[in-house]
Amino acid sequence: MLPATPAPVNLLGLDAQGLAALCADWGEKPFRARQLMRWVHQRGVADFAEMTDLAKAFRARLAERATVRAPAVLADHVSADGTRKWLLDVGQGNAVESVFIPEANRGTLCISTQAGCAVNCLFCSTGKQGFSRNLDAAEIVAQLWWANRALGASPDGERIIGNVVFMGMGEPLQNYSATLTALRILLDDDAYGLSRRRVTVSTSGVVPMIDRLRNDCPVALAVSLHAPDDALRNELVPLNRKYPLAELMAACRGYLERAPRDFITFEYVMLDGVNDTDAHARALLALVDDLPCKFNLIPFNPFPGSGLRRSPGDRIRRFAQILIDAGIVTTIRRTRGDDIDAACGQLAGEVQDRTRLKERSRRVVPLMEVRG
Ligand code: SAH
Ligand code: SF4
Repeated sequence: MLPATPAPVNLLGLDAQGLAALCADWGEKPFRARQLMRWVHQRGVADFAEMTDLAKAFRARLAERATVRAPAVLADHVSADGTRKWLLDVGQGNAVESVFIPEANRGTLCISTQAGCAVNCLFCSTGKQGFSRNLDAAEIVAQLWWANRALGASPDGERIIGNVVFMGMGEPLQNYSATLTALRILLDDDAYGLSRRRVTVSTSGVVPMIDRLRNDCPVALAVSLHAPDDALRNELVPLNRKYPLAELMAACRGYLERAPRDFITFEYVMLDGVNDTDAHARALLALVDDLPCKFNLIPFNPFPGSGLRRSPGDRIRRFAQILIDAGIVTTIRRTRGDDIDAACGQLAGEVQDRTRLKERSRRVVPLMEVRG
């Protein structure tokens, strides 16, 4: 029997080290790795035939053994406020979402790291789907690669995406190695060249991995807090039972020693009558104590069957004021892309949802898979 041909390696998931190893394996000079990286990520080229400064033999080998392939786009929705959401097919009935949020200058892309999520926070529709699987580094990076191609450049030739937040589906620090490789590619000057301050990993509090990220690749950190004490946080974020608040706060302090920003962002979803009283706000002040931080209050985005309600606007403002009066920079997140279910916690790109998505979408643009 002939030996099976190995599956082509997807270059979207190889960082500088991975590409260098591939080139070394094939007897190519090390600088070829950087050339490849620029073709793939800076220029968004998927067809090796177009990589004209590479030797023909190398291109032929790449065409045979490698690929540059993003997941197929199942749907492309544009919100009235310009927010855009892509539903990506990651195989075996799983789909994930990425969301582009335009801003005055360069916009923000929110990307997913897992199909589903095992943390199962009480208020999160991704969590309610359960965990399906980790995305690999190529599937994570492909979200940015694809969005850059789809959005094109601004009139002055600048890229439109200036910030990337790991706030889509999944818990990035429970998919650590793929997330780390993806971060390295996002920061690489031969790829996307994003500054560490403009890449944010959001976590529900996987304490040991916060410590590892600090050492391996410190980027901006957002921690989903949602409660000022362990009893309530155990209910809202079940992972708190494993890594309680005292440990989480210690990890945040440790992270700041290497972080590119001199504060931690705490996210706090505002749930009516659950975690939104003045007493909760005051307890938060005691919890964070002198830890340099900012708060981002997220009005809860309801989904069917959640059994929870969004705190009223005046309650959120009053809660914010208590934090502000104590000297903490506090913002209330604007809800964007509501009409296309692109807001935080509404990303639910599972396949069972497809029929519903079809009904809901007013502008669905069928797109193709790009192969190298
Ligand atoms: N798993 C990571 C990142 C993805 S969730 C985390 O939990 O941090 C990104 C943010 O959306 C988190 O702060 C999360 O708490 C919040 N979120 C989840 N469901 C939400 C909902 N229904 N309404 C508002 N925010 C929600
Ligand atoms: Fe997972 Fe984050 Fe949703 Fe919690 S909020 S279930 S950690 S995706």
